[in-house]
Amino acid sequence: MPRPITATVHLAAMRHNLARARACAPDAKAWAVVKANAYGHGLERALRGFADADGLALVEFDGAVRLREMGWSKPVLLLEGWFDAADLETMSRYDLNGAVHCMEQIALLERHRPAQPLNVHLKMNTGMNRLGFRPERFAEAYRRLRAIPHVGEITLMTHFANADESQHPCLPVHDQLRRFKEGAAGLPGPRSLANSAGVFQMPHLQGALAGDWIRPGIMLYGGTPGGRTAVQYGLLPAMTLASEVIGVQDVRAGEFVGYGSRFEAEGAMRIGIVACGYADGYPRHAPTGTPIVVDGVRTRTVGRVSMDMLAVDLTPVPQAGVGSRVVLWGEGMPVDEVATAAGTIGYELMCAVAPRVAMVED
Ligand code: PLP
Repeated sequence: MPRPITATVHLAAMRHNLARARACAPDAKAWAVVKANAYGHGLERALRGFADADGLALVEFDGAVRLREMGWSKPVLLLEGWFDAADLETMSRYDLNGAVHCMEQIALLERHRPAQPLNVHLKMNTGMNRLGFRPERFAEAYRRLRAIPHVGEITLMTHFANADESQHPCLPVHDQLRRFKEGAAGLPGPRSLANSAGVFQMPHLQGALAGDWIRPGIMLYGGTPGGRTAVQYGLLPAMTLASEVIGVQDVRAGEFVGYGSRFEAEGAMRIGIVACGYADGYPRHAPTGTPIVVDGVRTRTVGRVSMDMLAVDLTPVPQAGVGSRVVLWGEGMPVDEVATAAGTIGYELMCAVAPRVAMVED
């Protein structure tokens, strides 16, 4: 019998969340960001869940080709990761758009003419200092790119570092917007700016960001980029990681649970042992008290997470026993709450679900 842990992907939730993104930016076209195997949900499922998107964006070359092989006929955007003539040929053959974020890529396009023209996104570094041309070099990059005959449409893009915190002390989103507008002033072409956090800022940035493209990722999977909760944002979880209680221990006051004996029972209590550990993708650093749901009742983890198991406090669920259903995150247990307790973000938890966990869909 297989271990009882499964990750269920909810395609209807993916559709719902995409519609939520669109509702925030009704005039924009939407790239659904599907990098990292669609944030752990599976590319093929993303292709169906986000069938209404105007395009799919990712960083993996092989994933982009697979999208085409699976029949995706709308635009595909490679957000990074193409650097040589063979890449250009593949992009031309599979009709892949590419983000241009450094002069080396422009030089490659000048030297090498692929069979078909390429549409590109020219990326500006507006303060995040990850990829892209600084605003003062942007127009020069644009002009060099525009002079290349086999470059088709040029979309102008940037990426926000802190769109979830409009009052951010170091780099508020309005500063990035201002730099973008200055650097792109007078340059034609569609604009592509907002990740999920930016999409949620749309009501405040309306006008500045309206139109053209949005690039939501995490919100499409029911996670939040920060700020408010998924429920407040009107999002539904696209994945439920669930398992079962496979053992119960009646411990006495003063006894310890798990490796390192990190949890000491204050009184007699029932401990449930759940078939889920860090080798399944559950965060090892989740401390005692991390929220978890057993038989529909919210309780807490206790002690250290081990490779294949973790322990839960069954005090609030007296009827629970071997075979009780446990929701690690997803429906009834927001992934962001688990992530916060474990000192990480929902993005990391979703992406880290291990290959040994059976993935199904409903
Ligand atoms: N656009 C780019 C360039 C990205 O790198 C990402 C993800 O990091 C996204 C959009 C989507 O971001 P989020 O998942 O925060 O919506």
